[in-house]
Amino acid sequence: MANYVEPAPIKDKDNPFESMMSRFDTAAKLLNLDEQTYKVLSSPVKQITVHLPVKMDNGDVRLFEGHRVIHSNILGPSKGGIRYDMGVNIDEVKALAAWMTWKCAVVDIPYGGGKGGVVCDPTKMSAGEIERLTRAYTMSMLDVFGPDRDIPAPDMGTSGREMAWIMDEYSKAQGMTVNAVVTGKPLVLGGSMGRVEATGRGVMVSAFAAMEKLKINPYQATCAVQGFGNVGSISAKLLHERGVKVVAISDISGGYFNENGIDIKEALAYRDKNRSLEGFPGATTITNDALLELEVDILVPAAKEDVITEENAPRLKCKLIVEGANGPTNFTADPILIEKGILAVPDILANAGGVTVSYFEWVQNRMGFRWDLDQVNRQSDQIMKEAFDRVYASAQKYNCSMRIAAYVVAIDKVAQTYALRGVY
Ligand code: NAD
Repeated sequence: MANYVEPAPIKDKDNPFESMMSRFDTAAKLLNLDEQTYKVLSSPVKQITVHLPVKMDNGDVRLFEGHRVIHSNILGPSKGGIRYDMGVNIDEVKALAAWMTWKCAVVDIPYGGGKGGVVCDPTKMSAGEIERLTRAYTMSMLDVFGPDRDIPAPDMGTSGREMAWIMDEYSKAQGMTVNAVVTGKPLVLGGSMGRVEATGRGVMVSAFAAMEKLKINPYQATCAVQGFGNVGSISAKLLHERGVKVVAISDISGGYFNENGIDIKEALAYRDKNRSLEGFPGATTITNDALLELEVDILVPAAKEDVITEENAPRLKCKLIVEGANGPTNFTADPILIEKGILAVPDILANAGGVTVSYFEWVQNRMGFRWDLDQVNRQSDQIMKEAFDRVYASAQKYNCSMRIAAYVVAIDKVAQTYALRGVY
């Protein structure tokens, strides 16, 4: 008898799709989007749910629920990660897929949005079990994935290792190597230089562009970064290297504060050695909640969603928020940030450096060529800076927040493309 893994129930009040739609609706109104286009852009093109039997190491067969949602393919093939987590549910996948549509449109890369996920706990599975699950998921998505159709990437619980298995399984089915079917691959398999640092680098570029607008001198600026994983640690490192004083960092073990500035190189070395910041010397400990409320110029939430809410937003003392994480600000906090005059560079802009370099990976794979790090960084910095300027100009034009302006830019781009492509 197959063992069914029950998906987590959807909590309506935290429904991520609703959160995304509240911003979408505001932007759609500003753009006077007609009803027909509104309906098309707010509904996913396709959503697929599969049940995958996988043989576990003990001989049992377990059935895993997997999803893939194509939110939009108006600008090009859909792009978006695959999440392995017990909390995966179709509503979350739908919201994340739509987020990808807007993120790709904001940075003006020729992709639509998609997202996938499997309800599983990879920390409780062996490498062999994860491999069989990944290959089964790939086989079930053979007519969905494709370098010109839908291009997955890593997300929570997946990494280059899973992307390599997807590429291999898909390639076998096609009878040839198709490395452009996924991004976030290991370098030797056609991954791109600079991909690992790309999201943090984009956060840094966004922070500098915003500091320029706010007339904050980076050499006198202070910053707190929540999360010290891929995005948080690289953001902190690049800001620190460019003269910003990073006074607080954190990970799941807690927050670490030093008013004279934290030596990020030391913190990175400590984390790499101990796999956590726990016990990091040269700083006093604070809570993750207290970190958000520090009196700093820049706050970079780079850990998880919904950390800035209507509850703590009134107590924030920063001038600028640069959202490294996806969805760190709950929509209930938006009006409070506006009222307090805090400039929030929204996730769909600030952390789009990752998908930009994923796009470069796909371009390089299709060219059969490799760019050096300098070329990748130069081009991604330019894309991020141009996107920031477009969103800033749109915020001025519509007299709205950068978040709504980012949605305006994105929706406008997709709506115009939709109108030109036509409908039958
Ligand atoms: P990661 O797993 O590398 O790091 C996450 C960090 O957050 C770790 O330091 C972890 O200890 C910390 N953390 C986890 N739970 C926490 C909690 N409750 N309180 C405080 N800290 C906590 O993940 P990542 O790739 O850096 O992603 C972070 C965020 O950025 C996510 O929202 C992700 O969706 C988003 N994002 C990542 C990328 C990318 O390229 N990696 C791109 C776009 C967006």
